Amino acid sequence: MASATPASLPSSERAAELTASLADIRTRVAHASTAAPTLVAVSKYKPAADILACHQAGQRDFGENYVQELVDKVPQLPEDIRWHFIGTLQSNKAKTLAAIPNLYAIQTLTSTKAADALNKNLPSTRSTPLHVLLQVNTSNEDAKSGLPPLSTASAAPDDHALLSLARHVVHRCPRLHLQGLMTIGALAESLGAGDENRDFEILKQTRDALEAELKAGEGVWGEGEGRRLVLSMGMSSDFESALRAGADIVRVGTGIFGSRHLKGEAVAGAS
Ligand SMILES: *Cc1c(COP(=O)(O)O)cnc(C)c1O
Repeated sequence: MASATPASLPSSERAAELTASLADIRTRVAHASTAAPTLVAVSKYKPAADILACHQAGQRDFGENYVQELVDKVPQLPEDIRWHFIGTLQSNKAKTLAAIPNLYAIQTLTSTKAADALNKNLPSTRSTPLHVLLQVNTSNEDAKSGLPPLSTASAAPDDHALLSLARHVVHRCPRLHLQGLMTIGALAESLGAGDENRDFEILKQTRDALEAELKAGEGVWGEGEGRRLVLSMGMSSDFESALRAGADIVRVGTGIFGSRHLKGEAVAGAS
C-alpha cells in the first residue's frame, strides 16, 4: 500500500453524532438478538474521518462497495479495521482486493472465476484465510446479483451453481475460508405485510441445505467447530427482523452514518 496521510477526526459535533447513532444501533442489535452478531458499519460514500470517529467508539468491522474507494481509504485508517467488501465483485478487481492486508471478508462471491483469482493473488504472508460469503439472490430480482437459493425440500442437483461454488471454495481454494451466505433481499418498502421475513427464511433454508450437502460430500468439511455457515442479512431498514430470523452479520449504513447524497448512487444495495 502506498503511504497516505492518516485520516483526521471530523468536527466534534459530527463525531458526537456518529458516536450516538452507533451506540443506538448497537443497543438495538443487542436487544434483537440473543447471540453476539457482527455489526458491519457500511461506510460507502462516507469520508475516512467518519470511519475514524466510529473506530474511536470501538467499531472495527466496516463495509465498502467500491474497490477504488476502499483502496483509497484503507491506508488512511487504522490497520486493525476488518474490511468487508460488499459490492459487486468483478474478477478483474480480485487482484487489487487481494492485496489489501486487512481485507477480512468478501461477502459477494458468485463465481469460481473470482474465487480462483482471489485465491491465486492473496499474498502468502497473510496469516489468516480470506473469509468469503456466497451471495444468494433470495428475492429473484433481475437487478440483484447472486446465485439462486437451495431448498431443504429436495436434494440439490450436483451442478447447482451455489453448491458447485461452495465445493470449489472448500476443496480448491486453500487461501479462502467459506464463512457463509449473504443476501440483500427485497427492499422493505416493496413488501406486503407479513412478507418481511421471506428472504431471510429463504437464506436460512439455503444455508441448511448447503451445510447438509457439504457434510455429505467428500473431504473434510463438517469436521470440527467453526464449520458452520453464517448468515449476512439485514440492513438499516430491516436489521432487527433479520436478527430475529437468525442473522449472524448485519450491514448497517444510513442508520449509523446518515443518508448518502452523492450522485450516481443506486438504490441501497442494488449493486
Ligand atoms: C449499501 C449497502 C448496505 C447498507 O444499506 P443501508 O440501507 O444504508 O443500511 C448493506 N448491504 C449492502 C450490500 C449495501 O450495498
